[in-house]
Amino acid sequence: MDAPVVVITGASSGIGEATARLLAGRGARLVLGARRTDRLEALAGELGGEVRTLTTDVRRREDVAALVDLAVEAFGRLDVVVANAGVSRIGPLDEQTVDDWDAMIDVNLRGVLHAVAAALPVFRAQAAGHLISIVSTSGLKIVPEQVVYAATKNAVRTLSEGLRQEAGPHLRVTAISPGFTATELVDAVEDPELREQYRARMAELGMPADAIARAVAYAMDQPPGVDVGEIVVRPTAQN
Ligand code: NDP
Repeated sequence: MDAPVVVITGASSGIGEATARLLAGRGARLVLGARRTDRLEALAGELGGEVRTLTTDVRRREDVAALVDLAVEAFGRLDVVVANAGVSRIGPLDEQTVDDWDAMIDVNLRGVLHAVAAALPVFRAQAAGHLISIVSTSGLKIVPEQVVYAATKNAVRTLSEGLRQEAGPHLRVTAISPGFTATELVDAVEDPELREQYRARMAELGMPADAIARAVAYAMDQPPGVDVGEIVVRPTAQN
């Protein structure tokens, strides 16, 4: 693909940031969204080249629509959306609140739906496009304390496969399931004891975020008629 135009949500840290770095190094034109605009701008400054940023809260459909519009305005097309923004609220169901569940549903599921709603008309008009969503191995092997998180990720996996079947041959759809990846994801865990447990597991097991960025690049690198539906990338030590 020649200098693809790629929208990445949640590009201010972790997997989204690593993906932006890898793709920028390969000459992609990038449109980066997240809430922490200072981090997005610092990243864009470091990357140089053709990078745009926009303050984006994926819970707001108009923000995600504006991110997609920016890609088309700035670069004339949209080749790939990496729906990466996500949050994790870890804890047993009977200790979590409905607000915890809503937080994950709103970002991890509704946020991806907002990207689908914004990008599909552009992909249809171009007769080409690629939606890459970052799901999780938590959805493949269900474990305690991550139940609603896993449910949101499996909902996106279902969405991805359904979209593939509905959309027709112009659309490529990929769901990437990372295992433990060393990022800021667990910093938001509220229970201090649980947070330290997960931080320790991340430090022991976590892959660099670049491992997932390479999976994104692999899916993008296939010829237009070839769709990589699912990729699972785990640390070798993860059971
Ligand atoms: P980080 O916490 O480092 O990154 C999460 C990103 O999501 C940040 O850029 C954050 O940006 C963004 N984000 C969160 N809420 C919103 C929002 N409402 N609107 C826009 N952006 C938002 O963690 P990771 O890099 O690990 O997470 C990336 C994806 O990978 C997530 O979907 C996560 O579930 C998934 N994943 C991670 C795994 C891991 O072990 N790390 C394993 C499996 C999947 P900001 O706060 O600036 O808005």
